[in-house]
Amino acid sequence: MIRCRVCYRTEKWAEGSREVVVEGGGRKPAGHPSLVAWRTVRDALSGETGPVVGACAACGQPMVAEGQEAAWVDWPLETPDGTLMIRDGVLPAGSDIATLDARMEEAWAERLRLADIKPGQAMFTGGLMTLLMVPVAVWALAVCVVTGFLYMVLMDPSATIPGIGQGVTLPGP
Ligand SMILES: [Zn+2]
Repeated sequence: MIRCRVCYRTEKWAEGSREVVVEGGGRKPAGHPSLVAWRTVRDALSGETGPVVGACAACGQPMVAEGQEAAWVDWPLETPDGTLMIRDGVLPAGSDIATLDARMEEAWAERLRLADIKPGQAMFTGGLMTLLMVPVAVWALAVCVVTGFLYMVLMDPSATIPGIGQGVTLPGP
C-alpha cells in the first residue's frame, strides 16, 4: 500500500497498474506544506516509514510505501535555503537529518513565542488593557461613593442631604 500521511489517499501499486483505494484530498497539511512534507521525508529517511515513492495526486505531499522494499523516487526537498534533491533515499553530501530538521522547524514551525511579539504590539496591548480598566475603576469608585452616602444618610437621621438645602432632614424612625 502507498499512503499519503496528510490526506490519507491510499493506492495499491502493482506492476503496470495503480489502483486508488482511498481518494483522500479532503485534509490539508497542518502547518507549512514544505515543513509537513519534510517530516514525512525525514521519517522515511530515518526508516520509520517506507520510502517516498511519489507525490500525492490529491494534495501533492510525499506518499510513502509500506515496508522498505520499494524504491525511492527522486524527491525535491524544499528548504528555507533552496531545494535539495534527494536521490535514492540519500540526502545530498553536506546535509544531515538533524541539521535540516532544526533548520526547517526553526523557519516554518508556528509557535507563539514571546520574543516574536513586537514592542509596539506589546505597548498597544498594554495600553488597551489600561484603557479597559478605566471604566471598571470609575464604576468601583461610584459604588463606594454611593454606598458611603447612603450609609451616612440611613444611619444618621439628622444628617442633611448636601445640595438639597439646609435644614432638610430625613424623618426619624
Ligand atoms: Zn495527499
